Formats: sequence, C-alpha cells, structure tokens
Amino acid sequence: MVAKVQVDEVSSIIKERIGNFELNVDINETGKIVSYGDGVAKVYGLNNVMAGEMVEFEDGTRGLVMNLEESSVGVVVLGKGVSLREGMSVKRLGRLLRVPVGDALLGRVVNALGEPIDGKGPIESTESRFVEEKAPGIMARKSVHEPMATGIKSIDALVPIGRGQRELIIGDRQTGKTTIALDAIMNQKGNGVVCIYVAIGQKESTVANVISRLEEAGAMEYTIVVSSSASEAAALQFLAPYTGVTMAEYFRDSARHGLIVYDDLSKHAVAYREMSLILRRPPGREAYPGDVFYIHSRLLERAAKLNDELGGGSLTALPIIETQAGDVAAYIPTNVISITDGQIFLETDLFNAGVRPAINVGLSVSRVGGAAQIKATKQVAGTLRLDLAQYRELQAFAQFASDLDEVSRKQLERGQRMVEVLKQPPYSPLAVEKQALIIFAGNEGYLDTLPASAVVQFEADLYPFIEASYPQIFENIRTSSKIDDETMAMMKKALEEFKTTFVAL
Ligand code: ATP
Ligand code: MG
Repeated sequence: MVAKVQVDEVSSIIKERIGNFELNVDINETGKIVSYGDGVAKVYGLNNVMAGEMVEFEDGTRGLVMNLEESSVGVVVLGKGVSLREGMSVKRLGRLLRVPVGDALLGRVVNALGEPIDGKGPIESTESRFVEEKAPGIMARKSVHEPMATGIKSIDALVPIGRGQRELIIGDRQTGKTTIALDAIMNQKGNGVVCIYVAIGQKESTVANVISRLEEAGAMEYTIVVSSSASEAAALQFLAPYTGVTMAEYFRDSARHGLIVYDDLSKHAVAYREMSLILRRPPGREAYPGDVFYIHSRLLERAAKLNDELGGGSLTALPIIETQAGDVAAYIPTNVISITDGQIFLETDLFNAGVRPAINVGLSVSRVGGAAQIKATKQVAGTLRLDLAQYRELQAFAQFASDLDEVSRKQLERGQRMVEVLKQPPYSPLAVEKQALIIFAGNEGYLDTLPASAVVQFEADLYPFIEASYPQIFENIRTSSKIDDETMAMMKKALEEFKTTFVAL
C-alpha cells in the first residue's frame, strides 16, 4: 500500500525542521567548516568569537582563531586534524589558550599545548596561565645586575650575561649553538635557576639527544623541555615558545630565576610565515608577514629582571638564530639582533679550525651583562679583549711579513695562547674561580714558555693540582668573588710551582 502524503503535511514538516534548525544552531556561538587544508580551517559562523580564542571541532580537535574576516573566521588547527571535513561543526570555548604552570613541570617534556609527551603520566599542576601575557613594563623592572654564568670561558669573560638579559646565539648550522645553550643550562645546577628549553621545528631525534644530554648531566631535575618538532603543525611550532615563556614567567613572578632557550627562532619565523600565508595574510619582505618582528619582540620582552617590590625575580632569554652562509644582514637575523641585548656570534671557519666554542670575540657583544660580571672575572678579563684584538690584527699582517719585531712576535704568541685558553670541550661548564685562574695564568705570561699546543693539557692538569695543594685559592675567589692581594700572591706561587712539575705530553 502506498502511503498518501498530503502536500501541506510535507511543507509543514519542512517548516518545522527549518524552525528547529534556527533554534538549535546559534551562528554566533558555533559555525561550520567551509574549507579545510594545510592545518587551517575557514569557518562560517562563530560571529561572537574573539581573535586568539580557542574553538573545538566536532571530532574534539582544538583550534585557535587567528583571522576575523567579514564573512568567515580563519582557524589554525592545533593537532593533526586528519579527520576534519567540510561541513563539520565548530564551537566556541569562550576562553583564550592556557597552559599548566608550576613546579610539577620540572623534569618533564611537554608539547606546545603543555601536554606531557614523555610517557611519565599526567602533570599534577594546580595552576595554569594565559599563553599571551603582556610583558612587564619599565616601572616593574630593575636593571640587570646579577651574573647568569654560562660556565663557558669566552662568554663569561668577554660577553658576560646577566640575569634578566636577552642574549642572542647566532651562527650557521653546526657551529655549536645548541651546545652553548645546553652548557649554560648545565651550569645552573645547584644555584636555583630553573631552565626551560624550547625546541622549535627540530627533528625528534635531535630533541631526544638534547634530553638525554641534560639527563646525563643531572640537569633535567630543574629543567622543562617544550618541544614542537618539524613534523607537527606550523601552528604548534608557532605556539611553542609562548608556551615555554609562560611556564618560565611563573618562576620569574614568584621571586625565582629562570633561563629560557629558544632553539631556534629562525624555524619559528618560518612556521609563522607558513601559517600566515595559508591564512592569506599578505606577504612582505622575504615573504614573511609584516608582523614577524612583533611576534619576536613580544616574546623576548617577557624576559625581565623584576624590581624588588615584585620580588626581584628574573627571566633570562637565550634565543638562537641560524644564519645562511654567515649572513647576519638577512631579515630575521637583523630583527632579532635589534630586539636582544647583544649577541654571541659563531663562525664555521673558527669551528673548522678547531677554535671551539667557535665564538668570534670581535663581533660578539653583551650590552648590559658587564654590570653583572663578578669582580674576579673583571680583574682578569680586562685586558683579554684587547690582547685578542691585537692578536687578530697581527695575525692577518704576519701572513705577509716574514720577520716581525720582538714586541709584535710576543703579542702574536700571547694571542695564540689566549685563544687556546678560551677553547673548551662541550658539556663541561667551568666554575668562575677556575676560569679566573687560567685566564690569569695566560695574562701573567705563565703560558708563554709552553708550546701553544700544550695549553689545553696544562689547563686540564692545573685544576686538580690547585684543588689538592692550594684549595684556598678557589675557596677565596668563590666566597669573596674577587682576587685580593693575598690570593693573587698565592696564585702566582701555585702557578710557579705547577710549572716546574708540568711536563707536556
Ligand atoms: P644545528 O645547526 O644543527 O642546530 P648547532 O649549531 O646547534 O647545530 P651543535 O649541535 O651544538 O651545533 O654542535 C654541532 C657539533 O659540534 C656537535 O657534534 C657538537 O658535539 C660539536 N661541538 C659543539 N661545541 C663543541 C666544542 N666546544 N668542542 C667540540 N665540539 C663541539
Ligand atoms: Mg642546534
């Protein structure tokens, strides 16, 4: 039997459906995907949504609202987004992105959303914070005055970093950039500084290597690793440094000290460019969007030394930039150079010549850290920069002139030995008192009679000798932070004595 359907019945059903549809779906609070591709969804609806707000897709995937256009909203997808399809619904979550903060994160590895990825179970944190926070203003700050020792001789002596400073590590690929940052983290062991290492767009195996290095050195206990690898969505790579700095700010704001490494901001800029181009934001110089400077400045401004009323906490930032063929004049390098308080410039030529860390001491600067250098280092490093500069000049000259006068020859030899003194193997940060002693030995000419190639051996044997026979020297410098007359006399005596026993292999 065929059911007889009245025409007016059908139309009333349709009318009822339409009526319900309008009732159930509020295009102010929800929307539908119009198109989706490359991690960006164009959404119709969501009329009330705010820029930077979190939204949730039908399948539970979360997204971040980036573009508010007249008839659509551009949402970057935080995740793989493999099951997203046209027509899927999206709803507002009514909140901006927050991540967990606190001591519970120490020793953990998290992704750009603050979720654990180390398989060590959930993170028991009770607090969370907005990822986009305004940087402290001028009144909230105090000038940098405490040292943030990296344990690397050439940095602590020549480009000293202070707590609250932003110092750029810049160089071509494979010049030892990450190693410097890791040494700096390892050197914070036992002094209460909390470290955050943010890996942006790196291979997962590289990040795993970094983590095992930190674990071996016992540095993971006071470190948080935020990782967004090259295989993850551009949006997550873009978010990772903000997530890291939010976690770091918690320590800065609770009167503690933090050190954050962004490894690296070149890849961060590339991720942001990718995201922006897919969102159809207009490209500018080198196809980067116009606000690429702003995303880095608002990130690095969050490093600060707070004033006493705010607890006096600090956050030091070590952003890393990878250059192409040493070109520091490219867009992103010049941007970040202008945002930071100085840079440590690494060179492939030096690295290949065996001068490692491959720091170009002529081009590296620290604009504020000098105020934070301890007296002992200042005492010994005063003439070092000049000695090295003279050495470089002479070295270029000596390639053409066969016979040098006595003074120049001496300067050249001194320079060679100082370059040897500043060499340092990776993952072995050195305490300031040891740094002071070996630089003192170089300055005072104790190394001049050794072959330059024996300096490294001399240094390695010297420390155990001093610890055994003259422990007072290290003790004095450690406690008073300076070299007084009595200690200096003792240093001279110890060096004389050691030189008579030292035999170069
Ligand atoms: P990438 O551009 O790939 O990120 P990078 O600039 O971060 O590289 P690192 O990974 O830190 O460089 O170091 C490259 C290599 O050089 C590593 O094998 C590291 O062990 C070695 N290296 C770094 N510093 C030193 C050093 N001071 N002495 C000897 N070897 C070093
Ligand atoms: Mg690296």
